[in-house]
Amino acid sequence: MDDWQFGPAQELRRAFILDDTKLGPIHWFRPGKSAAVVMSVDDIFPGTSRSAYESGGDLERGAIGRLLWLLERHKQLQLTLFVTPDWRRISPVANRLWRHVPWIRDRVYLTSVLPKGTMDLRKHPEFVAFLNAMPRTDIAIHGLHHINQGHSVSVEFQNQDRASCTRVLAEAIRIFEESGLRYVRGLQPPGWDCDLALQQACRDVGIEWVASARDIQTPVSKDARTAMSGLSGVSMLFPERIAPNLLHIGTNFQATSAPERAFDILDAGGILSIKAHITKNVPGHMHLDGVDELHMNYLDRLFDDIEQRYGDMIDWTTLNQLATPLSASSSTSLPENPAAQPIAHRAA
Ligand SMILES: [Zn+2]
Repeated sequence: MDDWQFGPAQELRRAFILDDTKLGPIHWFRPGKSAAVVMSVDDIFPGTSRSAYESGGDLERGAIGRLLWLLERHKQLQLTLFVTPDWRRISPVANRLWRHVPWIRDRVYLTSVLPKGTMDLRKHPEFVAFLNAMPRTDIAIHGLHHINQGHSVSVEFQNQDRASCTRVLAEAIRIFEESGLRYVRGLQPPGWDCDLALQQACRDVGIEWVASARDIQTPVSKDARTAMSGLSGVSMLFPERIAPNLLHIGTNFQATSAPERAFDILDAGGILSIKAHITKNVPGHMHLDGVDELHMNYLDRLFDDIEQRYGDMIDWTTLNQLATPLSASSSTSLPENPAAQPIAHRAA
């Protein structure tokens, strides 16, 4: 089992759930809609082209400018940006000599890191103001520092108990609040990891949804369950309540996926959930789904095709807009047992 794979969600649930009647996939869309499209972008912080790499800090002149171009081309598209409140990781690759020394290697950073506070959003008001002004864009939480001691450099919440996960999330939220960034109560855990302690911590700080599973390989079907990065065994196409107050929505499509996968997901009445990373090349690693011109052109064409093929049947929405009405704490009335309801409409 590699570092990004965790136990079946079923086991987590058994250990955690008090009331399992409210759990499971939810096949529900707004009236008149048969499927949905969401797109999210990870690893956004104020790094500029004068830093180790650009990660949104060049504003409209950098990668965010390319996202704005896509938003301009597709007026229904909405984005979720996963922002890290005080980013510290320089490279995702463990390259320090300590990595060969048992015991110590699990207690130090095995890659070069920025000093704490360098990328703290409170010190970057222009960046915060720019994000706040972006059209049709939600901001959600992507860890605190995006760094971990030991070999899994990016898996920030790995091997932490509920109390330390809660502390880290509370600090992330505090920085968001004090910076003036407008944000929604959702989390993409760095490195995809969302084990039981983190799920519990989410509830402690009022986070209502997580996006923790990525599966861009399992063949598409209504009942497909995730089996790649992050949580395994959760619905690949639908929101799923993994705990009484915690919704999960995974990723099932990225730049390397064929258009047919997108159509299959929409034909099955699912949520096409597209993931991108804001930076293409970081030291020691290339993100295949980095926000470069080629990738944006691909999505531009794909969205044209979806608009033509499905018209008004698609709900172009955000993870938060999907999750909030389904949250157990929401007052929105849903069918008694949403999981048992058939999809109201199917695409032609
Ligand atoms: Zn990340």
